[in-house]
Amino acid sequence: MLGRLIWRAKQAVHTLRNATRPEKRSCPICQYEGLFGPFGFPVRPEAQCPKCKSLERHRQLALWLERDGNKARFAGKRLLHFAPEKAIETLLRPHVESYVTADLEPGVAELVINIEQIDMADKSVGVIVCSHVLEHVDDAKALRELERILTDDGFALLMVPMVHHWEKSFERPAPTVAERIKYFGQFDHIRRYGRDFVERVKDAGFAVEAYSPTPEECIEYGLGLGAVMYVAEPQRG
Ligand SMILES: [Zn+2]
Repeated sequence: MLGRLIWRAKQAVHTLRNATRPEKRSCPICQYEGLFGPFGFPVRPEAQCPKCKSLERHRQLALWLERDGNKARFAGKRLLHFAPEKAIETLLRPHVESYVTADLEPGVAELVINIEQIDMADKSVGVIVCSHVLEHVDDAKALRELERILTDDGFALLMVPMVHHWEKSFERPAPTVAERIKYFGQFDHIRRYGRDFVERVKDAGFAVEAYSPTPEECIEYGLGLGAVMYVAEPQRG
């Protein structure tokens, strides 16, 4: 009995400590060092750098960019950024020839584009950034469109929320907002991706390379544990 009480007391102390004294992190974008803040729904307690407002996926992209040769891959290219986020634009704009933003929603970005049916010429874009977009749309259509508009030496940076221990993505009819929140976690998501995301990208004609930060980097920079960014290049004979 006393043993159980002591165990409970220790648990309570640990819980309180974790809630009130999170670990210090570093931001690879603005070099801030200290406590990160909460963001998102459900809330991720250490998601956001308080100085530059970057989130986990932005810091992950910043780390990838610093890797050998990755900055040079943007040189001279025209970049198209879907569902634009300022933190990503700040990182990538200095490395490209031109930068244009696009969104389905009018007034959000420079161009209004439906990613399932893109009003742009074949092979007209060198880099595509498509972060947290494909879980909202018909991804087979969208990925084929991305492949079509990329130049032969172009590439797409793809990020989606994913359940890594699921072999297959989870999709089912969910016509109401309540059902989409229940099944997919957000009012406008239409699936939860599993590991077959990679096969879906390959099916659209891409070769896919995955970038995962090391466990040390995830801890140091406050990244989502297990988060992956995919670099997709058109495979044309
Ligand atoms: Zn920062």
